[in-house]
Amino acid sequence: MLSCKQITKQYGNLQVLKGVDLEIAKGEIVSLVGSSGAGKSTLLHILGTLDEADAGQVLLNNVQVDKLKGNALAAFRNKHIGFVFQFHHLLPEFTALENVCIPGWLGNKKKKEVETRAMELLAMLGLKERMHNKPSELSGGEQQRVAVARALINNPDIIMADEPTGNLDSTHARELHQLFFDLRKQFNQTFLIVTHNEELAAQCDRTVHMKDGRIVAGVN
Ligand code: ADP
Ligand code: ADP
Repeated sequence: MLSCKQITKQYGNLQVLKGVDLEIAKGEIVSLVGSSGAGKSTLLHILGTLDEADAGQVLLNNVQVDKLKGNALAAFRNKHIGFVFQFHHLLPEFTALENVCIPGWLGNKKKKEVETRAMELLAMLGLKERMHNKPSELSGGEQQRVAVARALINNPDIIMADEPTGNLDSTHARELHQLFFDLRKQFNQTFLIVTHNEELAAQCDRTVHMKDGRIVAGVN
């Protein structure tokens, strides 16, 4: 479903990625671990089309995404990839419901259809009573679930999460991971999760270990 071949990336004199190959199958929940500076975020950003590699290929559902540019790239990313970050990046002036709707409205879908799906997702994630609240009125765990609903709004092929539990206590962190597994069960949703949480990483289907810009274990 997602694969990359021989990805390299250099910042100044620093070779951050030194030829990374990875394949992820539909419905897989893969964790990406390694010490700070190993290149995890850089790889995630390249796989998520947020950043460009110096060389190598990224294929998502047989589309060579490194060939896409500009508006076509932005539209592809919005439709096919969902993101969840450590700090949820919800827009503070919009309600939870509006935050979830925005990526849907950016696509070509009807306003009302997007809203109906957003409400269903928020209800499914236990946020039915909170959907008209602004992010600042929600707890950290609630905010992160809104971010997950937002990531799901366009039925993405994959959700990429960068330290999604980094800002949560251990109870909420476990709940968030449980939610990922529930979503896999329900929608066969695929996940790639960068995490420092060893307990949660170990529960994933597969753990990919990075060290100094290379994958050293868990490639397939
Ligand atoms: P990790 O996520 O494993 O901690 P990163 O991918 O964030 O690793 O970073 C790998 C290395 O690349 C680090 O040394 C980091 O400082 C450096 N780096 C990341 N992004 C940039 C950038 N935009 N410019 C310069 N150096 C960067
Ligand atoms: P994470 O905690 O997820 O590894 P970082 O805090 O390392 O993320 O990086 C956050 C952002 O800053 C990323 O977009 C990364 O590319 C960029 N970045 C990281 N290190 C550097 C650096 N040394 N110089 C410039 N940008 C960097």
